[in-house]
Amino acid sequence: MNIPFSPPFIDQAVVDQVLETLNDKWITTGPKVKALECEIKAITGTDEVICVNSWTSGAILMLKWFGVKAGDEVIVPAYTYSATALAVLHCGATPVMVDVLDDFNIDPEKVQAAITSKTKAIIAVDIAGWPCNYTALKELINHVDVKKKFKCQSDKQSLLKRILLISDAAHSIGSLYYDKPAAQMCDVTIFSFHAVKNITTAEGGAICLNLPAAFDPQEEYNYLKMYTLNGQNKDALSKSRGAGWRYDILFQGLKINMPDICAAIGLAQIRKYNQELLPQRKKIAQQYCEGFQQEDWFVAPPLVSTQRESCYHLFPLRVKGLTERQRDQIIDDLASLGIASNVHFIPMPMLTLFKNLGYKIEDYPMAYQNYVCEISLPIYPQLTATEVEFIITSVISCVHIQLNSHLEIDEGGFSGHKQMAVAS
Ligand SMILES: *Cc1c(COP(=O)(O)O)cnc(C)c1O
Repeated sequence: MNIPFSPPFIDQAVVDQVLETLNDKWITTGPKVKALECEIKAITGTDEVICVNSWTSGAILMLKWFGVKAGDEVIVPAYTYSATALAVLHCGATPVMVDVLDDFNIDPEKVQAAITSKTKAIIAVDIAGWPCNYTALKELINHVDVKKKFKCQSDKQSLLKRILLISDAAHSIGSLYYDKPAAQMCDVTIFSFHAVKNITTAEGGAICLNLPAAFDPQEEYNYLKMYTLNGQNKDALSKSRGAGWRYDILFQGLKINMPDICAAIGLAQIRKYNQELLPQRKKIAQQYCEGFQQEDWFVAPPLVSTQRESCYHLFPLRVKGLTERQRDQIIDDLASLGIASNVHFIPMPMLTLFKNLGYKIEDYPMAYQNYVCEISLPIYPQLTATEVEFIITSVISCVHIQLNSHLEIDEGGFSGHKQMAVAS
């Protein structure tokens, strides 16, 4: 078998949308982007949606929009893709990393302890599509003592008067929180449409706004659209129309707009997301859970509870009692059987840039524990039930080889220490 980890979903509808864009001869930001923004607004029920060319650029944009700068702090989880913290560094501010919970997501108690008078924002990451505890995080940012600490140092900060709550929803388009789209839970929710995500535009992202009443969503939309286009007051499409050539640059923006040729891919996908693509992902997750439930080493990922439901972006399997070396060996063994798997994530404090900045993995024991025994399995609509079955049997046999070899070493007296088990 040859099972890739996460190929993009490209059917005839996607090809047709892209061809239509090419045939219409308008390939950069225009009607397809507008249509994609409308679709995202409809499926999330958020006030406004702005498409950009990546999650990373969208996060930089929103931090800059809020006036985050050198000397400020932004709280992020240690366990995420590095873009979460890199966006903060790009603004000159300091990412304050905190540890996560057993469900992979940021620990609200650790967030509380990390808040200072310099804290401007919190970026919570919905790992694998599982929404963070937004009830706790919202309570926290609205708490009188926390609000008292907040220093307003920009126009937007003076309007909000508290810490900005941003959701890194790179994984979580379609996730639910109390039966509503989880994208409604934060001031700002940012999706990624990178090639491996549930919906892709090859590269891209979208910012959903859910700001309090002090903000005018339409006004913020217009301002942010200009921000994505070098602070230019007219986009290429309106400039291209006859006498509309004259424009102005109103402020120093970024150049991070999404092209129509990219939006076309996502547009075709999003139109079948809730009805087809998302239920297919859910079915695969359920097949995995049934396939592994007999195994005493199986730690099921958080997928659904009374308050939350994942959008099944990843299937982050954890194997109780596994060492990092054994986990790596299983990934190699699966690869030799033709199955591509992955690890989400190497905690940021283990990466060179962050080590050099002084972050230490020892300070984030839960992030480390989640990481060492984690293997992300393929999960996407094109995967057949037969392939999933093959992955399940292959994983079970590879895990057994590793766990048994570990027992032999232990019994032989080579290693006296017990492996850390994953808390359930
Ligand atoms: C993919 C990803 C990002 C970055 O998205 P880009 O669109 O590639 O910038 C950010 N955060 C998380 C958690 C991701 O998985």
